[in-house]
Amino acid sequence: MGSTETATKPKPHAIFIPFPAQGHINPMFKLAKILHHKGFHITFVHSEFNQRRLLKSRGKNALDGLPSFQFETIPDGLPFSDADATQDVPSLCDSTSKNCLAPFRELVTRLNSSPGVPPVSCIVSDGIMSFTLEVARELGIPDVFFWTNGAGGVMAYLNYRNLVEKGYTPLKDWSYLTNGYLDTVIDWIPGMKGIRLKDLPSFIRTTDRNDIMLNFAINQAEKIHDASALILNTFDAMEPDVLDAFSSILPAVYTLGPLHLIEDQLPDNELKSLGSNLWKEELGCIEWLDSKEPNSVVYVNFGSVTVMTPQQLVEFAWGLAKSGRTFLWIIRPDLVIGETAILPPEFVLDTKERGLLASWCPQVDVLKHPSIGGFLTHCGWNSTLESICAGVPMVCWPFFAEQQTNCWYCCNHLGTAMEIDNNVKSDEVEKLVNELMFGDRGQEMKKKAAELKKLAEEAITAPSGSSIKNLESLVHNVLISCP
Ligand code: UDP
Repeated sequence: MGSTETATKPKPHAIFIPFPAQGHINPMFKLAKILHHKGFHITFVHSEFNQRRLLKSRGKNALDGLPSFQFETIPDGLPFSDADATQDVPSLCDSTSKNCLAPFRELVTRLNSSPGVPPVSCIVSDGIMSFTLEVARELGIPDVFFWTNGAGGVMAYLNYRNLVEKGYTPLKDWSYLTNGYLDTVIDWIPGMKGIRLKDLPSFIRTTDRNDIMLNFAINQAEKIHDASALILNTFDAMEPDVLDAFSSILPAVYTLGPLHLIEDQLPDNELKSLGSNLWKEELGCIEWLDSKEPNSVVYVNFGSVTVMTPQQLVEFAWGLAKSGRTFLWIIRPDLVIGETAILPPEFVLDTKERGLLASWCPQVDVLKHPSIGGFLTHCGWNSTLESICAGVPMVCWPFFAEQQTNCWYCCNHLGTAMEIDNNVKSDEVEKLVNELMFGDRGQEMKKKAAELKKLAEEAITAPSGSSIKNLESLVHNVLISCP
């Protein structure tokens, strides 16, 4: 990787501002490290709430950074809380869009008058933090949006307004959730042939035209047209149809993924080892996996936002118990709605020899561990990509947002996953977990995942990999182009 630093010019200075949630912070943090390696000065902006969490989970030096990689914070606009839990997503979307522009502008102004800090020369903004456009306009610098979901999710959000105008959403009443209406096939979204309403990001499941998330998604997606470019953490061979369709709608799309594989190529140093997980990782998981046979363990993790009812937790538990498989199950302390997760004591007793429960883990390392044979997941985009890059097939239980779209894509196009019914029952968990680990379908899915893993590796292999070429082009044609 080459450096963009020269003796005469100040370093380019990229300010990164992710939406303050785990699935957004992780890929943006990886890209920030990659650009730092390419010679950029980086300022990485966290919310004050997440700063407190990072210092708790990763220790008091977690945000010390380096002289050329600095952390800053702005408030998210929500009331003070020192909880160690995921914030309410609609409140956070509403609050960041209304309250973050002023502190962000102040921060950039302060950085621009700080001695020894190169002037901010570009913004890499989460696509759903589009208020940054105003600051970019004032300063005459590029603002590149990073949408941290797949191309399919972005295409779906770009069509939300059409869905409203054509009368598909809001729903006439709540019976439309269960009367078969969501099975309606939408045949006009480019690159997404065969998609049904139920596979589109879940915010269309509302009866209210003023619904916060419906409108937030419409507004943020439309702002993509005003950005200097769009970055996606995907790769060309992963989502060819939607990416082809984008070429006539959005002129400057840069597929840079899988970013965690590019991060792997960075030289080992202080910065590379800096993580961004908001929960404390239980590293004992890896040691435990070391003691297991190859391909023998089911990994269960529903990400950072999913919540479930106590009954759903129990169904998953008994499904895993009845499957007879060895499992690693990550149960966040705030996974169960309204209470601390309580598993039936008989389940714990029954599975203590072959099950490990933990509250958070280093997921990328877990997924690429040879003992992992399958992944029971909520199908968040990062988890999906991380699973594919490890060649691990999935059983998906999508919770919300574009997880439904990711699940549809993996099950129907990539052939790397099977879906579990939303109304989860232990018998189905048992059946699908066994199919995943040992059935013909599971083996076929594993083969497909291995093929995609190879394509992902090709995408990030210099000099001709598509993501590597796009990264070079983004840096030279957008991020350090003269305003
Ligand atoms: N993650 C992790 N350990 C865990 C759970 C999640 O490191 O125990 C990471 C995971 O690797 C991914 C991110 O958290 O990078 C979750 O993002 P995703 O898009 O999959 O789901 P979300 O949490 O946004 O629903």
